Amino acid sequence: MTSTPTRDGNVRPFEGSERAAALIGRIEDFLHGELAALARAHGVDQEHGASRELLQQVWRRSHELGFYGMTLPEAMGGLGLSVLDHVLIKEAIYASGSPFAPHVFGELSGPPRVGALVRKATPHHMQNFILPVARAEKAICFALTEAEAGSDAGAVQTRAVRDGEHFVLDGRKRFISGSPFADFAVLMASTASDSAQREVTAFFVDLKQAGVRVEAGYKTMAGQSHTGDIVLENCRIPAANLIGEPGRGLALALGRITVNRLLHCPAMVGLAAVALRDACAYAGQRRQFGRAIGQFQAIQHMLADMATELAAARALMISTARQIDAGSEARAEASMAKLFCSEAAFRIADRAVQIHGGEGIVQGRRVEFLFRMLRMYRVLTGTSEIQRNTIARELLGEPG
Ligand SMILES: Cc1cc2nc3c(=O)[nH]c(=O)nc-3n(C[C@H](O)[C@H](O)[C@H](O)COP(=O)(O)OP(=O)(O)OC[C@H]3O[C@@H](n4cnc5c(N)ncnc54)[C@H](O)[C@@H]3O)c2cc1C
Repeated sequence: MTSTPTRDGNVRPFEGSERAAALIGRIEDFLHGELAALARAHGVDQEHGASRELLQQVWRRSHELGFYGMTLPEAMGGLGLSVLDHVLIKEAIYASGSPFAPHVFGELSGPPRVGALVRKATPHHMQNFILPVARAEKAICFALTEAEAGSDAGAVQTRAVRDGEHFVLDGRKRFISGSPFADFAVLMASTASDSAQREVTAFFVDLKQAGVRVEAGYKTMAGQSHTGDIVLENCRIPAANLIGEPGRGLALALGRITVNRLLHCPAMVGLAAVALRDACAYAGQRRQFGRAIGQFQAIQHMLADMATELAAARALMISTARQIDAGSEARAEASMAKLFCSEAAFRIADRAVQIHGGEGIVQGRRVEFLFRMLRMYRVLTGTSEIQRNTIARELLGEPG
């Protein structure tokens, strides 16, 4: 195990490889240097998003520095990272507090969206969709959810009907992250001949083509507006855009669900670490009754509980990553990690707001943003209830 000096000057044992430790150092320099300057120059913060042009600049620069394609298969220039290294690098990215965190390796709209599809990709897919995304030229989103198909993802109603060398798509996708600035979507549609049947198929869709539009007029509670609906009306796409086999779309989308579930945890853990850091700083600086509030035991106990929950969430995340790296399926453990990290991170953010008193509930304070942001993770990418369903199914040995 290597030790890494952190920005606060402490030395902590590092759980990943030496290569990951070195990468984290370079990525932190990028985040705290170039990207922080870019955010300041353009007035970008967590709630004032960057323009597509500026995002493209970030993707290109990250690509030049060798970060953007890190998660791609090795044959495409990826680094062949272990799940543990991936988790630790992502945790460090989010712990930086940078508004560009989701763009360093293009998690929202870049290579991680296509890496798992490479195995099934045809030369047409590679040339027109996957390579432009890998080269940071184009952005892509993942479109499964619909108004009537949320937790029950198989209930997709968007229809894809074969017409000679084309498919004609009609329907509406809801809550699609990155869609307002994406060029393409990996989109799930029903190819069943009868609407009572479930047959979900995956397609590449060019969002700039006729018959498609993105409606993006809403903001999430975190104040961000990079989520939108994709509306498909008589949208004709080449049959060659079909990914894998008809009816295997959900398997393709959810095939890596265990790893993907775990890979959301470092974002929550990283952001919760920012909340704890801010709460400690405020407790040391804010004075009431003639002393720093951090000298009151009530505040100390809140900080102690926050640190304890953060350590427990991290430990579960890391042990699950190690199990997956060792070849275990770890379905229940990945759901436990997503459930515990999201619920614990929200409790940490709640206490951080409490420690900030009135300042904590004023819009614009970072803890106030973190509270709203961390509330969302209990719903996103499989709600806490759906994680509990998975854990219980595994415990009781019921089919998935
Ligand atoms: C900001 C944001 C970004 C998103 N990004 C994407 C994206 O990029 N691509 C994409 O495809 N989707 C995306 N989504 C959709 C997201 O994955 C869904 O919102 C989520 O899966 C929950 O679905 P739902 O909103 O329809 O809730 P519902 O499924 O309607 O759930 C409502 C409530 O019922 C509970 N519930 C439902 N079924 C069960 C059950 N069987 N047992 C117990 N409780 C149950 C839920 O836990 C929840 O509490 C995004 C959503 C948001 C808000």
